[in-house]
Amino acid sequence: MAHRVLVVEDEEDIALPLVRTLEREGYDVTRVDSGLDALDHLDPAVASRRVSPVDVVILDLGLPDIDGLDVCRRARTAGYTGAIMIVTARAGELDRVVGLDYGADDYLAKPFGLAELLARVRALLRRTATMAPPLQEGALRIDIAAHRVYVGENQVSLTGKEFDVLTVLAAQRDRVVSRDRLMSEVWDANWYGSTKTLDVTIGRLRNKLDAAGVTDKVVAVRGVGFRLEAGNRDA
Ligand code: CA
Repeated sequence: MAHRVLVVEDEEDIALPLVRTLEREGYDVTRVDSGLDALDHLDPAVASRRVSPVDVVILDLGLPDIDGLDVCRRARTAGYTGAIMIVTARAGELDRVVGLDYGADDYLAKPFGLAELLARVRALLRRTATMAPPLQEGALRIDIAAHRVYVGENQVSLTGKEFDVLTVLAAQRDRVVSRDRLMSEVWDANWYGSTKTLDVTIGRLRNKLDAAGVTDKVVAVRGVGFRLEAGNRDA
């Protein structure tokens, strides 16, 4: 089956030749011109009900609605595992993209040659073919926009705070998020209560994920914080 490429680009002059070239190479190309439309195709909770998943997204940063970097971060948080290539004309922007981890796999400065772009796309597909694990049974899917969490087709019912804790952890999947960071992102900075609230919320979140058959685990790292990691169904 042809690999699916999503082109997120609001400028016709750039998008049209790009789409034509990709189609000529045999890719199944979808083009959108806004960030929110892009998320519709990338968020597995939304997209899986419609069409096959996107293998590579070519993502412009300057979009009319939300910033391309936001699209990138939100797509990853929602569980998009395909490749993301950022293209931008903004001077100095690539440094910022590379310096901060938004979850992109490659970066290309505009203007770029179509031959170079095709070579990069092929390289990304080779990489993700070997790296991206298929969505495992029991894996979490988070629909950020709808504030919903799924395992398979079933929704997991979470409170607002449980959902917020989970999304902060999911955005940093497999990395430790400190207790301080969780407290400041989920509760506000003026909150003087005990961090025991965090432990209680984490405890409830774990119970609900367990009960729903979610294999991802919220792991406590002593003295530091918590980490969301993919668990094994047999473990
Ligand atoms: Ca643009």
